Parts: sequence; C-alpha cells; structure tokens
Amino acid sequence: MAVKKKKELSLTSKIFIGLISGVILGIILHYLVPDGNIKNKYLVDGLFQVVGQGFIRGMQMLVVPLVFASLVTGSMSMGDSKKLGKVGVRAIIFYIFTTSLAIASALFIGNLINPGKGMNMSISEIGDTTAKAMEAPNFTETLLDIIPTNPINGLAEGNMLQLIFFALIVGVLLAKLGQRVEGIANLFSELNELMMEMTMLVMKVAPIGVFCLVARTFSDIGFEALAELLKYTLGVISSLAVQCLIIYMLLLKIFTGVNPFKFLKKFFPVMGFAFSTASSNATVPLSINTLEEMGVSKKVSAFTIPLGATINMDGTAIMQGVAVVFVSQAFNIDLTMSDYMTVIAAATLASIGTAGIPSVGLITLSMVFNSVGLPVEGIAMIMGIDRILDMTRTAINVTGDAVCTTIAAHQNDMLDREQMNS
Ligand code: ASP
Repeated sequence: MAVKKKKELSLTSKIFIGLISGVILGIILHYLVPDGNIKNKYLVDGLFQVVGQGFIRGMQMLVVPLVFASLVTGSMSMGDSKKLGKVGVRAIIFYIFTTSLAIASALFIGNLINPGKGMNMSISEIGDTTAKAMEAPNFTETLLDIIPTNPINGLAEGNMLQLIFFALIVGVLLAKLGQRVEGIANLFSELNELMMEMTMLVMKVAPIGVFCLVARTFSDIGFEALAELLKYTLGVISSLAVQCLIIYMLLLKIFTGVNPFKFLKKFFPVMGFAFSTASSNATVPLSINTLEEMGVSKKVSAFTIPLGATINMDGTAIMQGVAVVFVSQAFNIDLTMSDYMTVIAAATLASIGTAGIPSVGLITLSMVFNSVGLPVEGIAMIMGIDRILDMTRTAINVTGDAVCTTIAAHQNDMLDREQMNS
C-alpha cells in the first residue's frame, strides 16, 4: 500500500512538471524562436501534435469500454435500483444548482468588472461573422434520445447518456438474476479490471502527453489577444476562481465535512489533465480512478462522472455569463433583470447540451445570446482568446463533477472520509 501511494504521488508531480515546463517552452517558442520548418513543421505540428493527440486519443479509447464496464459492475454491486435512483437524482440536483450559482456569480462579477463598457461596437464593425446561431434543443427529443433504439449504435457513437441508461439497466438486472447470469456478470467484472489496468498504462505517458499538448498550444497563441480582451479574460478567470475556491469548497465543507484543501490537492492532477486536453469527456477515466483513490466509491463515480461530463459544465456557463455582459455592454444593449434570469436558465440548459469536447461552449453560446436577443456576431469578438479560456473552464467543469459526486457519495454512505482527509 505504502509503495503504491509513493508511485501515485510521483505521477502527480510528473504531470505537474510536464504542465509547467510545457507552458514555459511554448511561450519561449512563441516569442523567442523564429518561425521555420524545424520549429513549426517538425516540432510544433510534428512531434508535439503526434504525441499530444496520440495521448488524447489513448484516453478517449478508454472512455466507452471503461464507463460501460464500471457502470455495469457498479450498479450490479449496488443491486438496488432505488438507491441508484437516489444517487442519480441527488447528483442531477447538485449539477443544476451549481451551474445556476456559477452563472449568477459570473453575471455579478461581469457587472462589477464591466468588460465591454465604452467599446461602442456595431455589427458592421465585425469582419468575421462565421458565428452562427444555434437552435435550442427540443426538450422532448432530448429526453427521448436518452433511450437508445440500438444500444450498440449508442456505444459506437460514444453517446454518454444512452450508454449510462443501458449500462444501468444491465447492471441492475444482472444483480436481480444472480446465479443465472454469473458468466456475463464475471465477464463485466473482468472487463472492468482490464480497463482499469489499461487506464494506468495510458496514464504512464501522461506527463509527456500533457507537456506536448500545452507546449503546442502556448507556442501557437501569443498573449496579444489576451491583452486586448484583458477585462473579459479577467472576468472569466476570476469567476472561475470564485466557483472553484469559494463555492465548491464551501459546498464540500458543508455537505460532506471533508477538508477542501486536501480535496483540491489530491484532485489537482485531474484538473491539470482537463486543462491540457480541454475535454471533460477524455478526462472521465482519470477522474473516476483518482476519486476512487481519494475514497469515493466507484459505484457512484462510474455513474455520476460521465453524467456530469455530459450535462454539468459550470466553467462553460461562467464563460457564457461573462460573455453576455461583455457583448451587451460592447453593443450598448441594456439587459433587464428578467433578461438576466433568462440568461441563467438558457446557460444552464446550454451547459446540459454542451458536449465535453474542446470549444463546444462557444457554439452553444449562440443559444444563450439568442435567448435575450444579443447579436451572435459578438461571439467573433471573443474567439481569439477562447482557446486558453476553454482549457481553464474545462478544469472547473471536471472539478464541479467531482465535487457533486463526492457529495452524492457521502449522502449515500459511499465516501470514505478518512481516506479523503488523510
Ligand atoms: N471544453 C469544454 C469541456 O470539455 C466544453 C466547452 O466549454 O467548450 O468541458
């Protein structure tokens, strides 16, 4: 046990070192090394791209089989559909609650910072109008789409909600049928073991993968766009910080009694991973494994983490809230209190509809803008800076999933608090 712990800790620090040195190298490459074949073709778009994307693909490769196997075995060992329902309902309530809090605080902070005041923009001034309006999804269709007409197809497409739905039914029925289906039950348990081992294997290259991903991103982007949109960037980052360091920590303390700092410290590698990949989906396997080491039962996390990666995006909602304030001020459009209420509802829905992959938050932002009549062309103004904010908000998205999961686990006696606080 002691040996294992030591090993894990070293991987954590290695990821951290990979992250920081990737950022530093990326900035050096951007500002100090002149463009040329060696830098651009062989290093940034060659080596960094291949190793970084190869690593992300490796993690993505794990998502469907790992989630499916661990959900089936998790719900099977819980065996009680009522208990499962309770966990699910609690997690969903917390997901919606934290998202509305996130967006409300983003609107508040946005109005304190006033990122767009005095810009006096008009639509004709925006050259790039590639941003297109997105229709709000149809509620009944979204709901019906959770039931797969063909589960194999759902799995093949990596449709997370269909996958969860089908796996839960399989697990509960396997528990009910007991000995009659022992073979299949064992098969899933063994598949679960196999996928855990595979996760460890892929995670071995995490420090290098993370290094290449961030080095590539930072060598591509300079900080010019950041300086231009400094107030907007500040608004998003400070709202994200409030969500992570105040709201989540308070919720953790109040609802579970765990030490919030211990939680953050142990969960940090997952945040670093989410930051470098900008994908909640790709972070699912690492998140489940890390939470298990922290004392959260996989019976809960295997269910609520993929669910959260699909429907809970607090960081994304925060970006959308600040963007609403920014664009409304830049275009001199006054928003009323009831407009703000509409934004809270629309951004919460958009967060449910945002897939856990890079940049989607920018696409669903058009839905939020539409809800209060802001020009979708305004999205073009923040595109240049979105990459780095996407990385940052993804780190918060996955932290939100983990906090709600920890609370749901605690409320169902499936959290080892001593392990978490150790
Ligand atoms: N990249 C985000 C995620 O995967 C989604 C977004 O805001 O674009 O969580």
